Amino acid sequence: DNLSSVKNVILVLSGKGGVGKSTLSVQIALGLVHAGKTVGILDTDVCGPSIPKMLNLENASIYQCDQGWVPVFATDDKKLCAMSIAFMLGSKDEPVIWRGPKKTAMIKQFLTDVHWGEMDYLIIDTPPGTSDEHLSVVQNLKGRVTGAILVTTPQAVAVSDVRRELTFCWKTSIPVLGVVENMSGYVCPHCSECSLIFSQGGGEELAKQENLRFLARIPLDPNLANCCETGRNLIDVFPDSATLKPMMELQVQTD
Ligand code: ADP
Repeated sequence: DNLSSVKNVILVLSGKGGVGKSTLSVQIALGLVHAGKTVGILDTDVCGPSIPKMLNLENASIYQCDQGWVPVFATDDKKLCAMSIAFMLGSKDEPVIWRGPKKTAMIKQFLTDVHWGEMDYLIIDTPPGTSDEHLSVVQNLKGRVTGAILVTTPQAVAVSDVRRELTFCWKTSIPVLGVVENMSGYVCPHCSECSLIFSQGGGEELAKQENLRFLARIPLDPNLANCCETGRNLIDVFPDSATLKPMMELQVQTD
């Protein structure tokens, strides 16, 4: 069993695309590595993989060892590794136009044929919604998911979509670690003032209503976007960023 030495499996879910799942998956992973943990990120967004880009691993490819595929290491000390379909494509602009069964088979392979090795956390970044990819993850992990983090933006539409993720977790018996509200206000890079562009509080309200933990409120921050473009940890590049405190709260609560 290639996952037998993985201590915790965390799913990152959202009802909509573009709300920051991959961004937060990467920053949580980098934060855990900063805290001394060994972490893997599995990108299950087969049709829109973005983890390699966000870890600055766009030109990497995978190879095989006796125990299976070897994930791509993102740090020299081998504390962080990733697996994504993007590592298998001939060109980074090549589209993956697959029906459900092929996607399902690919995810099964990611979970059974990748030699993850000894690992404190495997963070699984998922596509938006509750579709083939999610079902495949749940079926192949059979009760081994430690918990799910639900990501939403503050607007009512996004919050109502994330409720569907919550129901998915209940129906598939996945414990919910809590809710993160991303893009919660905009932090001006010049004066650090936070303006409420999309309103605020939708995620926290949902957490309250459903009796879930509210993990963090992460603002829209150009410095964070910059880190995502370059695969770097916010704390290393922008230690004075106003986003650092909520991001560290999120990292600590995941641990
Ligand atoms: P998803 O995985 O949910 O589709 P992404 O993580 O790819 O969303 O985020 C979409 C875009 O928004 C990315 O370009 C990312 O850099 C940006 N982004 C996400 N969260 C933030 C944030 N808090 N501050 C600034 N940019 C963000």
